[in-house]
Amino acid sequence: MKSKKTTVKKKPHKFVFVVGGVMSGVGKGITTSSIGMILKAKGFAVNMMKVDPYLNVDAGTMNPTEHGEVFVLGSGLETDQDMGNYERFLDRDLAGVDYATSGMVYKAVIDRERNLGYGGKCVEAIPHVRDEIVKRFEESARVNKSDVTIVEIGGTVGDYQNVMFYEAARHLKVHRPADVLFVMVSYLPIPSKLGEMKSKPTQNAVHQLNSYGIHADVIVARAEVPLDDKRKEKIAISCSLPTDHVISAPDIDSVYDVPLNFERDKIGDLLCRLLSMPKRPTNLAPWKKFVDATKAAKAGKKEVRVAVVGKYFDTGDFTLADSYLSVIDAIKFSCYAQGVKPNITWVNSKKYDTNPKAAEELAEFDAIVVPGGFGESGIEGKLAVIRVAREKKIPYLGLCYGMQLQVIEFARNVAGVKGATTAEIDPKAKHKVVDIMAEQKARLAARDFGGSMRLGYYPCVLKEGSVALEAYKKFSPKRLRVEKVGSGKGAGAKTGAQTVTVVDERHRHRYEVNPEYVQQIADAGLVFSGTSPDGRLMEIAELPKSQHPFFVATQFHPEFLARPLSPHALFSGLIRIAGSQF
Ligand code: GLN
Repeated sequence: MKSKKTTVKKKPHKFVFVVGGVMSGVGKGITTSSIGMILKAKGFAVNMMKVDPYLNVDAGTMNPTEHGEVFVLGSGLETDQDMGNYERFLDRDLAGVDYATSGMVYKAVIDRERNLGYGGKCVEAIPHVRDEIVKRFEESARVNKSDVTIVEIGGTVGDYQNVMFYEAARHLKVHRPADVLFVMVSYLPIPSKLGEMKSKPTQNAVHQLNSYGIHADVIVARAEVPLDDKRKEKIAISCSLPTDHVISAPDIDSVYDVPLNFERDKIGDLLCRLLSMPKRPTNLAPWKKFVDATKAAKAGKKEVRVAVVGKYFDTGDFTLADSYLSVIDAIKFSCYAQGVKPNITWVNSKKYDTNPKAAEELAEFDAIVVPGGFGESGIEGKLAVIRVAREKKIPYLGLCYGMQLQVIEFARNVAGVKGATTAEIDPKAKHKVVDIMAEQKARLAARDFGGSMRLGYYPCVLKEGSVALEAYKKFSPKRLRVEKVGSGKGAGAKTGAQTVTVVDERHRHRYEVNPEYVQQIADAGLVFSGTSPDGRLMEIAELPKSQHPFFVATQFHPEFLARPLSPHALFSGLIRIAGSQF
């Protein structure tokens, strides 16, 4: 039957730009995530985008102490940690086109120029760089087939670095004034000597934005305490806005409360009204359930003490929490879902490097997590910690490097491979139990470091009866896929098996368990319970339940898929065992 031609006009696509005023670090990313989530909860198709001012082509080449955790998308793109926040709030995967850096934009323009793509014209920031950015805003909207795009512009108004992003947003507004809106997230300090909230920096930030030709439609006013009416009015008048366009956003305990607070202030209705989108109720029930469970867990008596053993400790606590953001959140989500309070302790592995015995102090924890990492420092310390976890039967979850080191520890101390190590530390070592992946060798030799690791989604075949598969079956059965196999190869296959159970997980690594040592290590008792479908690459290593309550480590990064409404099965498995004393 021929489909009738629709007479309904396509609704115009909407754009909300979220910009920062006064200073960074006041919750622009969480505001952006919350706005996206509220509009999604109103039934709109939402896509979210982050544009970052730095010239790195992606976030992959930055040390986490510089710019926080590198968050890996399913596509393999290495991005800013805000993308992780968006995925956690929206509870869905974002696409590679949802992220852009100045580096990416300039590279595209320069590559096009080198290919004579500008037909002999003089290539300039305006219009060419600006248009490349606008194209990316529109591309993200198109790929996501959404009703509304929320774009967060990295940095703060007044920075030199992000000016082109503002200019591109302004350009979009000029061409479709009814479809583009600006939200400025600002900060109102309360200097201790004055004891009074000051709105001047916010007024200045608005004026700076005005000098770009952009008018803030909504101001989210962050402060230690709620704004009083006087302050709201002052900002409204000086920024030429109605008072209800100034939203008070006081400090709160948990970032996950922010959407509920915003909804109380009806920010969603305000945005819909300003963008002429239909008024709809907001269904925040699932989110409220999560927030309530969080509060109940925090107020309850049950607690699990988790040691996170890392090394990015050099620049203070703030950076630390940022460097391991997804790991920390993943632990928390699984705790909340099981009604236990997380008590997370940072442990700097470097302190055990020369004193491995001291790692025994960690035996008092309910669980130990060794997250991903790179390089040599803190490695002997981590190995000492993993040994304690294995010998004292402390529930253990190793992530990426935390798996490679688990295998090295087992090889050295159980399988009798003296001096076992990774090629990452000692490329000339005799026993490289962890070695560079074949396809990575040439890349390293050519110093091709950017975006060249094994990145993003790859399938992992799970072994029947394993601790890992049991955890997936219990906590996230929907993520599992049963696939037919011809060869009967892979961890999930028994001889002649017809089907295997597969899960897709996100990766970021250059090294792998050396296939030459797999048999020897497996013979000594470590079970490789997850492999690539061809059976060649080891994805999960664990000890059988009969020997250890939970000693599981993954080559992939489960933390990137841990979300408030769907905690990750392996973290949940860890917490269930860690909390089993209750
Ligand atoms: N450095 C290791 C590798 O490149 C582990 C990487 C990680 O932990 N993300 O393979």
